[in-house]
Amino acid sequence: MKNYKIAILAGDGIGPEIMSEAVKVLKVIEERNDLSFELNEAAFGGCAYYESGHPFPEETKTICDNSEAILKGPIGMNHEDSERIPVDLRPERGALLPLRKRLNTYANFRPVSLPSGLAHFSPLKPEVIGDGIDMVMIRELVGGLYFGEKEVGVNSDGLRYVKENLEYDESQIARIVHVGFQQAMRRKKILHNIHKSNVLKSSVLWNEVLGEVSVEYPEVEVRHMLVDAAATALCLNPAQFDVMVMENMFGDILSDQGGGILGSLGLMPSACIGDSSAYYEPSHGSAPDIAGQNIANPYSMIGSVAMMLELSFDMLEESKNVWAAMQSVFADGFSTPDLSKPGAGVKMIKTNEFGDRVVAVLSK
Ligand code: NAD
Repeated sequence: MKNYKIAILAGDGIGPEIMSEAVKVLKVIEERNDLSFELNEAAFGGCAYYESGHPFPEETKTICDNSEAILKGPIGMNHEDSERIPVDLRPERGALLPLRKRLNTYANFRPVSLPSGLAHFSPLKPEVIGDGIDMVMIRELVGGLYFGEKEVGVNSDGLRYVKENLEYDESQIARIVHVGFQQAMRRKKILHNIHKSNVLKSSVLWNEVLGEVSVEYPEVEVRHMLVDAAATALCLNPAQFDVMVMENMFGDILSDQGGGILGSLGLMPSACIGDSSAYYEPSHGSAPDIAGQNIANPYSMIGSVAMMLELSFDMLEESKNVWAAMQSVFADGFSTPDLSKPGAGVKMIKTNEFGDRVVAVLSK
């Protein structure tokens, strides 16, 4: 029997609540397939800092290194708790970015998807949303402004200053645009290249490299769009997008907007893929405003399990089953509180009830 080791990093805020639901789903998949999942829990993020003094402890690194895949909940604290941690040990800087760098997970897949039956969750008008939303944003995850050299100091005028570098070399750009083209080949053969070449030299190089790589994919139509225009287009005509590729910060921001047009960040899972490692996490943060209330939407975390089943364990059918089960719960008239206002004619359910219903559908 095949045994897969999975590191479970539940994280902060709503992380443990939504991770419990994801684990329920993994148990169902394990029970009905000829395999076992060895789930190894490890501390990561703000909770790890408060427990052990470091947000990414050595023990967690070892567990991650010895796993076939990593399932990670969101990390991060509210503003006040964050301020109490030294700047370089705060969850994102001290744990999340080092995890990405360590695994070299340069390709972040963020599906922005709302089948037509669930279109009522979107804040967009029915005539805008049409048959639903179905696109994938591909975000470069280990380069750019978030990883460039930083300098803080006081200048010769006595003023505090900061410098942050946006760095990419052509190989970093080429490997992520290849991912974009390959994804486009599997879908509609349209690739939106999101950039800011009217202002940023980094985008000029990005576009040059993309042009060079494009000759290997003659069937793919490339459509160039400035990132600011793309932000508007996502609201006004999301149906034009199928696969979008972009650098790290653009992808961070635009994918949150993706959550906005779906109706909630709680509908945004993601996969972070490198040449030899992968981890899976919701696109959103730890939602401290709703933590501990059993009202978070676990779709993003369970969807990350679905992506892990497909991309790390080659279990495409089970992955599809998980997506279908989650969507059927909503299609049956249930909603988590992030997606509907009270009185909207839906049956409101809690975090754990959503997980239980997904498990019930899967177990039928
Ligand atoms: P957030 O994504 O945590 O929350 C934004 C809004 O979306 C909140 O109103 C929240 O309640 C809601 N939301 C998010 N996920 C939800 C879910 N599953 N169900 C229902 N509602 C949900 O963003 P924030 O408040 O700006 O950040 C909180 C913390 O998370 C910060 O410390 C931030 O740095 C961190 N963060 C971490 C990650 C990560 O771990 N990859 C990503 C983004 C932000």
